[in-house]
Amino acid sequence: EVTAEGLERWLRRFADVVHDHAAELTELDSAIGDADHGSNMDRGMRAVVGALDGGAAGAPDALLKKTGMTLVSTVGGASGPLYGTFFLRVAGGLVGGQAVDAATLGRALRAGLEGVVARGRAEPGDKTMVDALAPALDAYDAAVAGGAGIADALSAAADAAEEGCAATIPLVARKGRASYLGPRSAGHQDPGATSTALLLRSAADSLP
Ligand code: ADP
Ligand code: MG
Ligand code: MG
Repeated sequence: EVTAEGLERWLRRFADVVHDHAAELTELDSAIGDADHGSNMDRGMRAVVGALDGGAAGAPDALLKKTGMTLVSTVGGASGPLYGTFFLRVAGGLVGGQAVDAATLGRALRAGLEGVVARGRAEPGDKTMVDALAPALDAYDAAVAGGAGIADALSAAADAAEEGCAATIPLVARKGRASYLGPRSAGHQDPGATSTALLLRSAADSLP
């Protein structure tokens, strides 16, 4: 089962990984966007870590709600509201429980994806973070349906997220700044899909 302490490990790990990959994320965004995705995510996750340092974790839903609100308020651009919505909606899926089992975590993560889609209107294949997140959650659910525990299901999810991220390279962007480039957006990996793959890999490395 996943606890608030586990979720806090995940968030701190993601913050470290985003910091280590900030230059790479910004480089990807310089090709098809405005060269700020690494700095946006690094600023947001540093603020999340600051909030974690500032207080006890509390329940899982409270922790992720704080995370989502921090990202919305500290990250400008598309990714702040989208990642913020993701964590707020995951939090909504955890309400009531102290410890979270594999099926509940899967439902909560899917609520997060639905929030991202409701907010950004991206469909699979639009060359966005959805192209990493959606296959990751399908892989997670399939693993849980097959009897896997949280660790194995998240490992499958991270693999699928990385595949989905790599598969954005040939796509033409239909959402976000990259869509302004039209066909010239093809041939580049989507920055948001890349950070989302890091999010799932961080989860697999730190949960339960
Ligand atoms: P901005 O584009 O405002 O500078 P970032 O560079 O931080 O914001 O984030 C860009 C990423 O946001 C893209 O690579 C893409 O994955 C994601 N993104 C942009 N628009 C959408 C959308 N409508 N739905 C889902 N993801 C999106
Ligand atoms: Mg950008
Ligand atoms: Mg920007």
